[in-house]
Amino acid sequence: MTSAMTMSEPRERLVETASEDETEAIAAELALELRGGDVVHLSGDLGAGKTRFAKGLARGLGLHPDDIRSPTFSFIDIHAAPEGRSLGFVHVDLYRIANAAELAELGLEELPGPAAIAAIEWPERLPPGMHPRVTVSLSDLGNDTRRIKIRMG
Ligand code: ADP
Ligand code: MG
Repeated sequence: MTSAMTMSEPRERLVETASEDETEAIAAELALELRGGDVVHLSGDLGAGKTRFAKGLARGLGLHPDDIRSPTFSFIDIHAAPEGRSLGFVHVDLYRIANAAELAELGLEELPGPAAIAAIEWPERLPPGMHPRVTVSLSDLGNDTRRIKIRMG
């Protein structure tokens, strides 16, 4: 018997990239599978490639990767959808968040809205229990090699 509500299995992909360009390309491809309202958590140590991955997501949405810089001090950058495209890009970097009050001030629960996708660096700083549709974990395997695990609900 099939259940009335079919839940799709989460899909997991594991790739290794050998350059920052390859990481960006993987992210740009992933962006094509995203839909408005999606949140992407980007986990990994400093230098793992989270921002490079965010640039790729943005490129996949039609933005220019050079316009994407980690909002280390402002925490959130909002990039409007490029002309002729439907999705904007909200880039969040929580590395320097000091406490729950500062986090609450950002109003993250209102983001990204239906016409954008959000990428969050340092999602470990969020309160527990948030389950984004997409989780990306990057790890540095040495030199220019990065292991990237993409889990999509
Ligand atoms: P994070 O945001 O996780 O701190 P960044 O994306 O800012 O990391 O930086 C990643 C660094 O690693 C960059 O200097 C980039 O050039 C370098 N790098 C080397 N190889 C790769 C790779 N395969 N993928 C992503 N970045 C790489
Ligand atoms: Mg970063």
